[in-house]
Amino acid sequence: MKVFVTRIIPEVGLNKMLDAGLEVVQWQEKRNLTPQELIEACKQSDALLSAGGKIDADFLKECNHLKVIALHSVGFDSVDVAEATRLKIPIGNTPGVLSKSTADTAFLLMLSVARKAFFQHKRIEKEEWSFFEPTANLGVELQGRTIGIYGLGKIGYEMARSCIAMFDMKVIYHNRHPNLDAEKELNAVKVSFEELLVKSDVLSVHVPLGEETKGIFDRSVFSRMKPSSIFINTARGGVHNEEDLIWALENGVIWGAGLDVTNPEPMQADNPLLNMPTVAILPHIGSATVETRNAMSLRAAENIIAGLKGERLPYPVNPEVFDT
Ligand code: NAP
Repeated sequence: MKVFVTRIIPEVGLNKMLDAGLEVVQWQEKRNLTPQELIEACKQSDALLSAGGKIDADFLKECNHLKVIALHSVGFDSVDVAEATRLKIPIGNTPGVLSKSTADTAFLLMLSVARKAFFQHKRIEKEEWSFFEPTANLGVELQGRTIGIYGLGKIGYEMARSCIAMFDMKVIYHNRHPNLDAEKELNAVKVSFEELLVKSDVLSVHVPLGEETKGIFDRSVFSRMKPSSIFINTARGGVHNEEDLIWALENGVIWGAGLDVTNPEPMQADNPLLNMPTVAILPHIGSATVETRNAMSLRAAENIIAGLKGERLPYPVNPEVFDT
C-alpha cells in the first residue's frame, strides 16, 4: 500500500508508517503542489497524508479511490468534508495534542500586544533605544481583566486556564453549546456573542473556520468591542476581515491585535499591521514545537494505518462513514 505525503513530516510519524509495511512518498519541494500535481501523485497512491493544500470536490472526484485522507492538523476547513463523506472517504485529524502549544501561542501574543513587545524589539534594531522617558513605551496590565473566548473547546480551555493562572482573569465564552467542564473548573460564564464583544478586555478566537464563522470579525463587529480591547486570533485568518481589522486599529476602535493566522497567508511584508505598536504577528506557528509536531505526525500516521486496514480511524472527522 502506498501513501503520498504533501510535506516532509517528523520522522516518528514517517517511521510508524514504514514499520507498518507501507510505502511512503513525501513531496520534497519547498512549494505547494499544484492541484494537478496532487491529483497525479494521489492517483498512484492508496492514501493521502496532507500537511497543507486544498482537498476540494474536484480533487475528491478525481481521487475517489483513496482509502483514507489523514490531515496533519486539527483544523479541517481545507477539506470538503461533506463531499468526502458522500464518497465514503474517511478523513482523520490530530485533535488534543496541539491544544497546549497553540494556547501558549495565543497567550504569547496577548502579552506581547499588551506590552507592545514586537514593536519595542524593532525599536532596538532601528537604533531608537536611546533616552529613557518614564511616560513613553507604556503597555497595559492584564491582571483581573476579562478574557472572552470565542470557541471554548480544547485550545480555548488551555488559553483560559493560562489566563487565570497568570493574571487571575475572569473567563467568559461564546459557543453554540455550553462547555460544562469549563464552567465547573474555570468558572467560565457562557454569554451571547454580543455580550462577548461588549464585555471582553481580551477577545481570543478559537472557533473552527466554517460558514457561520467566516469573516465574522468585520467593521460592524469590531465597532461593538471596547476601544481598550485586544483581539487575538490563533484559529484561522478567514475568521476576521483583515482590512476591517486594520481600519479598527488605525481608528482606535480597538486597542491592539495579535495574530498567528492571517488573511491571506502568507502575509505580505508591507502589510501595515506589521508596523503598528500594539500589534504582534506570527507566521502560523501555533502548533510548532518539537513535541507537538511529533505527536501530530504520530496521530496522522495512526489514522493512515487504520484507514488502510479498513478500520475505524482513531481520530475521525467524519465518523459517519463507518456507520453503514
Ligand atoms: P475544538 O476543541 O473543536 O473547539 C472548537 C470550539 O469552537 C468548540 O467549543 C465549539 O463549541 C466552538 N464552535 C464551533 N463552531 C462555533 C460557532 N459557529 N459559534 C460559536 N462557537 C463555535 O477545536 P480546537 O482543537 O480547540 O481547535 C480550534 C481551531 O483552532 C481549529 O479548528 C483550528 O482551525 C485552529 N487551530 C489553529 C492552530 C494554529 O496553528 N494557529 C493550531 C491548532 C488549531 P460548540 O460546538 O458548542 O459551538
